[in-house]
Amino acid sequence: MPKFNLTLSAACENVQFIKRIKETPYILDFVCGKCSEPQNDVELLPENKEPVPNSRGTTCLNIKCKVCNSTNTVDVVSETAFKGEEQAQKICAIEIRGSHKIVAWKYAMFEIESTNGSIFQSEEDEVVEYDEKHEENVNVLEVVRSVE
Ligand SMILES: [Zn+2]
Repeated sequence: MPKFNLTLSAACENVQFIKRIKETPYILDFVCGKCSEPQNDVELLPENKEPVPNSRGTTCLNIKCKVCNSTNTVDVVSETAFKGEEQAQKICAIEIRGSHKIVAWKYAMFEIESTNGSIFQSEEDEVVEYDEKHEENVNVLEVVRSVE
Protein backbone atom coordinates (compact mmCIF):
# COMPACT_ATOMS: atom_id res chain seq x y z
CA MET A 1 0.00 0.00 0.00
CA PRO A 2 1.47 3.41 -0.89
CA LYS A 3 2.65 5.32 2.12
CA PHE A 4 3.26 9.05 2.30
CA ASN A 5 5.09 11.00 4.95
CA LEU A 6 4.16 14.59 5.70
CA THR A 7 7.31 16.44 6.66
CA LEU A 8 7.86 19.84 8.20
CA SER A 9 10.88 22.02 8.71
CA ALA A 10 11.02 25.40 10.37
CA ALA A 11 13.37 27.85 12.01
CA CYS A 12 12.13 28.03 15.59
CA GLU A 13 12.91 30.28 18.51
CA ASN A 14 11.96 29.08 22.00
CA VAL A 15 9.71 26.39 20.59
CA GLN A 16 9.46 22.96 22.16
CA PHE A 17 6.72 21.39 20.06
CA ILE A 18 4.46 22.08 17.11
CA LYS A 19 1.50 19.79 16.71
CA ARG A 20 -1.92 19.45 15.18
CA ILE A 21 -4.73 20.43 17.51
CA LYS A 22 -6.98 17.45 18.23
CA GLU A 23 -10.19 17.31 16.17
CA THR A 24 -8.75 19.64 13.51
CA PRO A 25 -7.86 18.23 10.09
CA TYR A 26 -4.85 18.15 7.85
CA ILE A 27 -5.62 19.85 4.54
CA LEU A 28 -4.31 17.74 1.69
CA ASP A 29 -3.87 18.19 -2.06
CA PHE A 30 -4.22 14.95 -4.01
CA VAL A 31 -3.54 13.95 -7.58
CA CYS A 32 -5.28 10.96 -9.11
CA GLY A 33 -2.69 8.35 -10.14
CA LYS A 34 -4.88 7.12 -12.97
CA CYS A 35 -5.97 10.29 -14.78
CA SER A 36 -3.84 13.02 -13.07
CA GLU A 37 -6.91 15.00 -11.98
CA PRO A 38 -6.01 17.21 -8.99
CA GLN A 39 -8.22 17.32 -5.91
CA ASN A 40 -7.22 20.14 -3.61
CA ASP A 41 -8.03 21.27 -0.07
CA VAL A 42 -9.37 17.92 1.09
CA GLU A 43 -9.78 17.65 4.86
CA LEU A 44 -8.31 14.59 6.55
CA LEU A 45 -9.35 14.31 10.19
CA PRO A 46 -7.32 11.55 11.88
CA GLU A 47 -10.03 11.06 14.55
CA ASN A 48 -12.65 10.38 11.85
CA LYS A 49 -13.88 6.86 11.14
CA GLU A 50 -16.26 6.20 8.29
CA PRO A 51 -17.37 2.95 6.65
CA VAL A 52 -15.71 1.81 3.45
CA PRO A 53 -18.39 1.19 0.78
CA ASN A 54 -18.89 -2.50 -0.03
CA SER A 55 -16.63 -3.56 2.81
CA ARG A 56 -16.82 -4.15 6.55
CA GLY A 57 -13.83 -1.95 7.22
CA THR A 58 -13.59 1.66 8.29
CA THR A 59 -11.28 4.43 7.15
CA CYS A 60 -10.41 8.02 8.04
CA LEU A 61 -11.43 9.21 4.60
CA ASN A 62 -13.04 7.84 1.44
CA ILE A 63 -12.03 9.85 -1.59
CA LYS A 64 -13.15 9.38 -5.17
CA CYS A 65 -11.79 10.93 -8.35
CA LYS A 66 -14.55 12.98 -9.97
CA VAL A 67 -13.18 12.31 -13.45
CA CYS A 68 -12.31 8.59 -13.58
CA ASN A 69 -14.17 7.42 -10.43
CA SER A 70 -11.06 5.82 -8.98
CA THR A 71 -11.81 5.14 -5.28
CA ASN A 72 -9.36 5.42 -2.42
CA THR A 73 -9.22 5.13 1.33
CA VAL A 74 -6.86 7.35 3.28
CA ASP A 75 -5.65 6.44 6.77
CA VAL A 76 -3.31 8.01 9.28
CA VAL A 77 -0.80 5.42 10.46
CA SER A 78 1.16 7.55 12.92
CA GLU A 79 1.60 11.13 14.07
CA THR A 80 4.43 12.83 15.91
CA ALA A 81 4.85 16.35 17.21
CA PHE A 82 7.48 18.51 15.50
CA LYS A 83 10.32 19.21 17.88
CA GLY A 84 11.66 22.74 17.72
CA GLU A 85 14.79 22.08 15.75
CA GLU A 86 15.66 23.40 12.35
CA GLN A 87 15.51 20.27 10.24
CA ALA A 88 12.93 18.33 8.31
CA GLN A 89 10.94 15.98 10.48
CA LYS A 90 8.35 13.40 9.60
CA ILE A 91 5.23 14.35 11.47
CA CYS A 92 2.54 12.16 9.94
CA ALA A 93 2.51 8.86 8.03
CA ILE A 94 -0.48 8.22 5.79
CA GLU A 95 -1.46 5.07 3.95
CA ILE A 96 -3.57 5.19 0.80
CA ARG A 97 -5.40 2.22 -0.63
CA GLY A 98 -5.90 3.27 -4.23
CA SER A 99 -4.03 5.31 -6.81
CA HIS A 100 -4.22 8.81 -5.33
CA LYS A 101 -1.02 10.58 -4.40
CA ILE A 102 -0.58 13.32 -1.82
CA VAL A 103 1.26 16.30 -3.29
CA ALA A 104 0.89 18.99 -0.62
CA TRP A 105 -0.38 19.43 2.93
CA LYS A 106 -0.97 21.95 5.67
CA TYR A 107 -2.47 22.10 9.14
CA ALA A 108 -5.93 23.63 9.46
CA MET A 109 -4.88 24.72 12.94
CA PHE A 110 -1.84 23.94 15.04
CA GLU A 111 -0.50 24.43 18.51
CA ILE A 112 2.91 25.64 19.57
CA GLU A 113 4.31 24.86 22.98
CA SER A 114 7.17 27.12 23.96
CA THR A 115 10.24 25.90 25.83
CA ASN A 116 8.66 27.46 28.94
CA GLY A 117 5.36 25.66 28.42
CA SER A 118 3.24 28.52 27.07
CA ILE A 119 0.71 27.48 24.43
CA PHE A 120 -0.06 29.39 21.24
CA GLN A 121 -2.52 28.42 18.52
CA SER A 122 -2.25 29.42 14.89
CA GLU A 123 -3.80 28.98 11.47
CA GLU A 124 -0.99 30.88 9.79
CA ASP A 125 2.22 29.20 8.69
CA GLU A 126 4.59 31.61 10.33
CA VAL A 127 4.16 32.65 13.92
CA VAL A 128 5.74 35.61 15.66
CA GLU A 129 4.60 35.83 19.28
CA TYR A 130 5.84 37.41 22.46
CA ASP A 131 5.37 35.44 25.65
CA GLU A 132 4.82 38.19 28.23
CA LYS A 133 4.85 35.82 31.17
CA HIS A 134 8.36 34.58 30.38
CA GLU A 135 9.48 37.69 28.50
CA GLU A 136 10.67 35.89 25.41
CA ASN A 137 9.97 35.63 21.70
CA VAL A 138 8.23 32.54 20.40
CA ASN A 139 8.77 32.32 16.66
CA VAL A 140 8.16 29.83 13.90
CA LEU A 141 9.63 31.01 10.59
CA GLU A 142 10.86 29.66 7.26
CA VAL A 143 8.25 26.93 7.27
CA VAL A 144 8.66 24.29 4.59
CA ARG A 145 6.16 21.48 4.26
CA SER A 146 6.75 18.58 1.95
CA VAL A 147 5.53 15.09 1.14
CA GLU A 148 7.89 12.12 0.83
ZN1 LIG B 1 -8.90 10.01 -11.81
